[in-house]
Amino acid sequence: MGTKGTSGAKSSGGAKSGHGISRRGLLIGAAVTAAGTALLAREQLEHAWWRLPGVEKPRKPGEVDFARAQWIAASSANWRRADRPDDYTIDRVVIHVTQGSYQSAVKVFQDPGHGAAAHYVVRKDGHVTQMIRELDVAFHAGNRSYNERSVGIEHEGFVDRPQDFTAAMYGASARLTAAICGRYGIPADREHIVGHVEVPGTDHTDPGKHWDWDRYLKLVRAADKR
Ligand SMILES: [Zn+2]
Repeated sequence: MGTKGTSGAKSSGGAKSGHGISRRGLLIGAAVTAAGTALLAREQLEHAWWRLPGVEKPRKPGEVDFARAQWIAASSANWRRADRPDDYTIDRVVIHVTQGSYQSAVKVFQDPGHGAAAHYVVRKDGHVTQMIRELDVAFHAGNRSYNERSVGIEHEGFVDRPQDFTAAMYGASARLTAAICGRYGIPADREHIVGHVEVPGTDHTDPGKHWDWDRYLKLVRAADKR
């Protein structure tokens, strides 16, 4: 009886506080909202984790961004450490011609006194060397904002020697550019794949009039589809 009585008292207490139930509903609602806020905060944190001091994407020595590339490090004086594409959007590929041999380009990019270097150097035989990570800002375009927004590709040869631009070079470079465009969602067109000559404020003329843009873009787009 006592038990029943107690139960009855409890039940009557519960019924009395229809008020209490709605308050409990309110608390559950608040808990759900708090969970939602926590989830949102975690998503924002995951998106912005790289902005926290000392937190960057992991790097491994000798790692390349383009699987077919050989790694030879440029002097750290010729680029600036960054964490692209999170700190700077990458939306341009800049095409250069070295005005010299592959070897001379690789050598000067390793020289801290040179003050410039590109991410990649493509040799006449189609060999691709990466010297600066795409994460980082290479000093190749002679324009700070273009350096920050672009990946620079050097091509062995001279602007006035069309025979330097071999089929192997076009093919290898196009596969590289297609991979870069794919990685960062860059449209494979002449607005986004530019010559050094087109960088605002530059006094450089590369890749020059013998660089076959139509041929190159066709190859980039064909490579893109694979
Ligand atoms: Zn150039």
